[in-house]
Amino acid sequence: MEDPGVQLRGWWERTRPVSRLHARALARRWAELPESARTPAQLVGRHALGCEGTHGVFPKCNLTCSPCYHSHDANKVRVDGAHTVAEVDAQMTYLEETRGPHGHAQLIGGEVSLLDPDAHAETLLAMRRHGREPMSMTHGDFDDGYLASVVLGPDGRPRLPRVSFAGHFDSLMRGRRGVPRPRGEADLAPYRRQFVAMFRRLRSEHGVPSYLAHNMTVTPRNLPEVAEAVRTTVPMGFDMLSFQPAAFVGDERRWRE
Ligand code: SF4
Repeated sequence: MEDPGVQLRGWWERTRPVSRLHARALARRWAELPESARTPAQLVGRHALGCEGTHGVFPKCNLTCSPCYHSHDANKVRVDGAHTVAEVDAQMTYLEETRGPHGHAQLIGGEVSLLDPDAHAETLLAMRRHGREPMSMTHGDFDDGYLASVVLGPDGRPRLPRVSFAGHFDSLMRGRRGVPRPRGEADLAPYRRQFVAMFRRLRSEHGVPSYLAHNMTVTPRNLPEVAEAVRTTVPMGFDMLSFQPAAFVGDERRWRE
């Protein structure tokens, strides 16, 4: 049995409005912000640390979008499961030490559905062990079978309490099954719907809830379609929509505009 003094200190720490570790991490985050970002409305460094993400661990994808943030070396380096679990674990150790005991972290830097399902699940569990609420970033071009094999263990029971996925859907993407060259955002609507439906089935068949984000890269080419994409996508059941203005990073051969 744990020492009563240790138990009491743990209880005292957990019932503080803000844990001391979190308070220290917030103070460091605030100190790192540029002066211009320390506005009265700034939440980062006061109430939140901002989101986290894995970096450069499994740079592999089977789509060929323009733009894409992967480097020239994507698809040429080692991305096997054991490597992914170990390197993500190391990155989460660093984040836990530098940013405190809790956070929201994206599993990003490659297409998660190309990870072996067991490795994907183990990676998410490793992130949870470091106090992170993980979100898998994906192009969403996978099926119920893959999702079930990530979420369910070999005994057929859920090994993850819940899942968060960010589905990337926009007309700048190339190579999706069924719509390899979308003519516009409207062409993606059935695929957005299928993605949400897959997670609804996961909940009804296996009782595992999910949080779904919809991500869309925006360039001058699809900017005029953003309003319509919002109008049609909101009712589909995503929990949030986010829009990322394209940034000039990654493989410059993938830039067309
Ligand atoms: S943008 Fe995403 S889905 Fe498209 S090629 Fe790059 S990593 Fe793959």
